[in-house]
Amino acid sequence: YPSDNIRNFSIIAHVDHGKSTLADRLLELTGTIRKGHGQPQYLDKLQVERERGITVKAQTATMFHRHKFLGSDTDFLLNLIDTPGHVDFSYEVSRSLAACQGALLVVDAAQGVQAQTVANFYLAFESNLAIIPVINKIDQPTADPDRVKAQLKSMFDLDPSDALLTSAKTGQGLEQVLPAVIERIPPPPGKSTSPLRMLLLDSYYDEYKGVICHVAIVDGALHKGDKICSAATGQSYEVNDVGILHPELVPTGILLTGQVGYIVSGMRSTKEARIGDTLHHTRTVIQSLPGFKPAKHMVFSGLYPADGSDFEALNHAIERLTCNDASVSVTKESSTALGLGFRCGFLGLLHMDVFHQRLEQEHGAHVISTVPTVPYIFEYSDESKLQVQNPAALPSNPKNRLVACWEPTVIATIIIPSEYVGSVITLCAERRGEQLEYSFIDSQRAFMKYRMPLREIVVDFYNELKSITSGYASFDYEDSEYQASDLVKLDILLNGQPVDAMATIVHRSKAPRVGRELVEKLKKFIDRQMFEIIIQAAIGSKVIARETVSAMRKNVLAKCYGGDITRKKKLLEKQKEGKKRMKRVGSVDIPQEAFHELLKVS
Ligand code: GDP
Ligand code: MG
Repeated sequence: YPSDNIRNFSIIAHVDHGKSTLADRLLELTGTIRKGHGQPQYLDKLQVERERGITVKAQTATMFHRHKFLGSDTDFLLNLIDTPGHVDFSYEVSRSLAACQGALLVVDAAQGVQAQTVANFYLAFESNLAIIPVINKIDQPTADPDRVKAQLKSMFDLDPSDALLTSAKTGQGLEQVLPAVIERIPPPPGKSTSPLRMLLLDSYYDEYKGVICHVAIVDGALHKGDKICSAATGQSYEVNDVGILHPELVPTGILLTGQVGYIVSGMRSTKEARIGDTLHHTRTVIQSLPGFKPAKHMVFSGLYPADGSDFEALNHAIERLTCNDASVSVTKESSTALGLGFRCGFLGLLHMDVFHQRLEQEHGAHVISTVPTVPYIFEYSDESKLQVQNPAALPSNPKNRLVACWEPTVIATIIIPSEYVGSVITLCAERRGEQLEYSFIDSQRAFMKYRMPLREIVVDFYNELKSITSGYASFDYEDSEYQASDLVKLDILLNGQPVDAMATIVHRSKAPRVGRELVEKLKKFIDRQMFEIIIQAAIGSKVIARETVSAMRKNVLAKCYGGDITRKKKLLEKQKEGKKRMKRVGSVDIPQEAFHELLKVS
């Protein structure tokens, strides 16, 4: 396939607008996968993806399609790169787009343009991709394609007559999609006569084959047996296997200019496979490709084994998982309350949840995670700066005087039906937001931009936004600069002992309310024990909230009237069960749920 007969495209959309379903249909249409293969969303391979109905990892598939082009039947090789739509994964989206010359911008015919439609459109637009608008789900009774066309025109200046109308469900309109891809998206621009340059798009670890890299051949060609070299590390490798993703690995022995495929080259860990790296033949001198912006960690949380002895198991699970998700940062840390664990940095909250869930589901780890925090910066009188990813690490009595605190902010995009404007403005003000823009997409929908502290978004913002707008709000954010802020460290004390894993950093104005909510939540979750427990929230030595759990009088067994052995056994079993999920802090048992509940206090 000369590169003139190759098209590399991606599908981008707001979550749930039908990207993965459309991808499935295109794979069926081209005979790449069989119809009715049983599992919907073929490319969503991970269990979390199926359960949550979201795409986390971008997946790639090569298809073949014959099309009448410039008057004669021509065979085309089409590389489809499915992308995640959720905000946390826009890193994956921009990565996928780097290997594409065009994108299908899918918009739900009933819901219209949503926040991530806007975000994804701009990612594609900035990468100079040809954009084909696809109005999907036209089978729905509430579909209003004309309204969506008008939105596309007013928001993105896309010509309404360019829009394709489809239903990935009924199949209506799908036949226009691939011809549009072939005719409107340019072929990859690389030079087949230049020395090999390939972009490393993604990598994962396979039990049998070792590290598998997804690559885009930008210039030149790659053959099996070639000796290649990483521009980033200078390391050389021999290509043992090379082929296309069809969508399973199909060896071809060769990849030509413009193609996307996989290589296996004896890399020992995915750490060697640096995403965004340029690979080239050894002994050729090339200019590196632009690569990608490094992933930015927005949210940090401590991960500890739920059962103190499982540290090694958790260590192993995290190592295995980060092999396939290099966007997580991991450092060891220890906590007096929870023992040995890890401080992990994530791209966002959903990313954190997904990582947590994958640890438990795919690697059988049991994990306690601490309250998520954002990276703050504290500046002292000797001009030293401290980046704090773990509130417990912030010294309570620093050597030098604290002169300033800085917190990360984001620019949030919110799209809502007009009737909710008032309540959303109130919510954003409560969350210390500053309105930057307020306009209307059409007669029914408002578009707002806010600068907000990241911290305010991390804690349950999206859920609250959804609930005050009956689920109609859509939301996206991008990171912005740090701003000066009046921050304090809030300690939680049990019987006078600070629990390091429960410390948080909050804005001073919010400390009293957050402190009160935290101790009230904890009180509900800590069972009465043989002695009285005092729960306090404090800033430095100043207690700002307090609750007491009174001592337990009766023994569990007192309920058994002597003889009934099975009941007694059952009760003891139950008590043991309960114990398993406890963390002992000083002399106080804290159930695992307590840590989870604390995550939800803003
Ligand atoms: P993604 O998040 O953009 O990948 O969206 P999915 O492909 O996972 O689709 C989200 C939901 O919309 C699924 O329940 C699909 O079955 C459904 N869906 C996708 N396309 C259509 C369509 O054309 N019509 C209707 N009625 N439902 C669709
Ligand atoms: Mg999907």
